Amino acid sequence: MKKLLFLVLIISIITSLSCKKDKREDNLVYKNGAVVITFDDHYVDKWLMADTVLHKYNWKATFNLTLFNKRTEEEIQGLQYLESQGHEIAGHGLNHQNALEYVNAHGLDSYLKNEVDSLTFLMNQKFKRVKTFAFPNGSTNEELNTAMFQRFRILRGTTDKTINPIFQDCYFTGNHFIHAWGIDASYPHYSQALLTQLLEFAHQEGFILILYALTMAGLAEL
Ligand SMILES: [Zn+2]
Repeated sequence: MKKLLFLVLIISIITSLSCKKDKREDNLVYKNGAVVITFDDHYVDKWLMADTVLHKYNWKATFNLTLFNKRTEEEIQGLQYLESQGHEIAGHGLNHQNALEYVNAHGLDSYLKNEVDSLTFLMNQKFKRVKTFAFPNGSTNEELNTAMFQRFRILRGTTDKTINPIFQDCYFTGNHFIHAWGIDASYPHYSQALLTQLLEFAHQEGFILILYALTMAGLAEL
């Protein structure tokens, strides 16, 4: 029951995204707040389960894919189904390499060629043009971001701070580099109490909270 109430809280905030945009000058404040949910890696069956649970709320998510060359035809069809429902299919590195470690070892050009362009080349044959990239482990720097913004509209890092929501940076403020706060129960920083605080703070302030997960299995299992 507790879990169900928690889900209802999330959904009530998600649904407020669709039509209640406030007319404040930066256009980035929503009455009742909003939540952006992103998923990483390749758990297509779990993502489809999450969609089964949440599609009645007309939710939309971004799915950041890695190891695309290892996906089965069935998984690709599942992803194409998600895209047909209005979700975004985005990039997360061909082999899930830590970008800064890779760049330090092999150079920037090599990272862009082997981890980024090779992935988007494959993905663009199956989905709409890839416009968003989430860095594995949130690993990046200014130089890399500059090169990546030649290729993508939105770049996503991660944050795992356990500080008060008022000091967090996991909100959309107009910057096309965004940080997402992880909500899988396996993350050391995660607690349902802190997530509830973040949701309530976004709701109260009209902020757009950005989250990421691998499977969101806890919700999909409800
Ligand atoms: Zn990942």
